[in-house]
Amino acid sequence: MNDFLQCCRNAIGGANVLTEAADTASYLTDQRGRFTGRALAVIKPGNTNEVAAIVKLCQQYQVPIVPQGGNTGLVLGSVPDTSGRAIVLSLTRLNRIRTVDPINNTMTVEAGCLLQQVQQAAADAGRLFPLSLAAEGSCTIGGNLSTNAGGTAVLRYGNTRELCLGLEVVTAQGDIMSSLRGLRKDNTGYALRDLFIGAEGTLGLITAAVLKLFPQPRAQVTALVALPSPEHALKLLNLAQAHCGSSLTGFELMSAFCLELVIRHFPQQRLPFEPSAQPSPHFVLLEISDSESAEHANSRFEDLIENALEEALVSDAVIATSINQSKALWQLRESISMAQAREGKNIKHDISVPISHIAEFIRVTDVLLQQAAPGCRMVTFGHLGDGNLHYNVSPPIGVTDTDFIAQQSAINRVVHDSVDRFHGSISAEHGLGALKRDEILRYKSPVELQLMRSIKQALDPDNLMNPGKVL
Ligand SMILES: Cc1cc2nc3c(=O)[nH]c(=O)nc-3n(C[C@H](O)[C@H](O)[C@H](O)COP(=O)(O)OP(=O)(O)OC[C@H]3O[C@@H](n4cnc5c(N)ncnc54)[C@H](O)[C@@H]3O)c2cc1C
Repeated sequence: MNDFLQCCRNAIGGANVLTEAADTASYLTDQRGRFTGRALAVIKPGNTNEVAAIVKLCQQYQVPIVPQGGNTGLVLGSVPDTSGRAIVLSLTRLNRIRTVDPINNTMTVEAGCLLQQVQQAAADAGRLFPLSLAAEGSCTIGGNLSTNAGGTAVLRYGNTRELCLGLEVVTAQGDIMSSLRGLRKDNTGYALRDLFIGAEGTLGLITAAVLKLFPQPRAQVTALVALPSPEHALKLLNLAQAHCGSSLTGFELMSAFCLELVIRHFPQQRLPFEPSAQPSPHFVLLEISDSESAEHANSRFEDLIENALEEALVSDAVIATSINQSKALWQLRESISMAQAREGKNIKHDISVPISHIAEFIRVTDVLLQQAAPGCRMVTFGHLGDGNLHYNVSPPIGVTDTDFIAQQSAINRVVHDSVDRFHGSISAEHGLGALKRDEILRYKSPVELQLMRSIKQALDPDNLMNPGKVL
């Protein structure tokens, strides 16, 4: 393999071929620190031609490739296995905004651009790139596309797939497919772009993309409401959509226990409600993006909340009156995962069911989990407006992390079987990676799995692109 590494150095410069443990360590361990793999090298090409040159060398020497962006993925997709045979191919040096076209409402960006950098470049051009998620300061647009990331504005703008008009891809053979024309209409055969989006690097390497831009809203207004149950939240969603139409951008459910954990572990944060004799068991964070004005947005919210109070859907509500207040409300939501991690180990599920079934899913599955692990503490939150929940389980008080994690397979089985009965998905937005590769075999139909294997075989016959992930 020394020959291979020397050829890589010749192709992209020795400084971009990392082999020393101190240099490669951060690329080999996953985001949650659960798994550390080994790699022949971490290779960092600086442009598309260099990516193609490295892929051709990998073909020649039959070296597997693990693509990596910001390494914030949550399903062990961006780290290598322990064989030490693969390279990690980091796209982070491909970080240029190539063009912004405000008339076409598109921008062409390289895969290694941080999501925040993409949002900022859009804002600098007076436009909005609406993908938004808590890891936006460290995840890359290539990673977002490869996982078809969701985030907090899917309700209004869709997943990353819906935000992409074209891709530049280096195929498993090292050829460059350039489809960066930014067309909104193009019915000329198979949608190749859509194969690579959400493929988690198993079919080819995304090196650049054309992204859709939107007008910047004049105002974004956030509200937090307290309510008795997820059933009430569903009715509120219905009402909010009737009142606000497509300006409803976010609708996030949080159980009271989620916020209790946030306040316990981040005591500088607080709930903006007066303490009451009967604390609310659930909360919803709503956001509307208004194209007219802050006053217009506020009056829409006031009407909605008045209506919701009359119909006894909510018991309390607060509308943010400043950007700082909005940020503080979002911070409560964004701190839940970190608060749960500080509380101890937990078992996470990223599931979706049809929106109409979500309340019943929670009710039924909570009971099943109490039977399987009595006293387990549910940390239920997520993008209710998309039918997507982070349905996480913390250990019962007194049960050690180790004993609890030993039950992981059994708990996953309870949750995922229930998801299946509700016609849902066991991975709504994080993908399959290595973590859920075996689990999905139980839930996808044989026909779907066979079609997926055929596509993989056709595009990557040597199985060099992120082997062991997804399939
Ligand atoms: C705090 C936090 C909050 C999060 N919130 C959300 C959320 O709300 N919604 C959501 O969907 N996800 C969320 N995630 C998960 C994660 O941020 C996303 O999956 C993100 O899209 C991954 O981007 P990345 O650049 O870090 O990709 P990586 O983690 O580096 O890679 C992810 C996968 O894509 C592949 N890949 C990466 N770049 C390329 C490329 N250029 N070409 C081909 N394959 C590639 C990798 O091999 C891997 O399989 C969150 C993660 C964290 C830590």
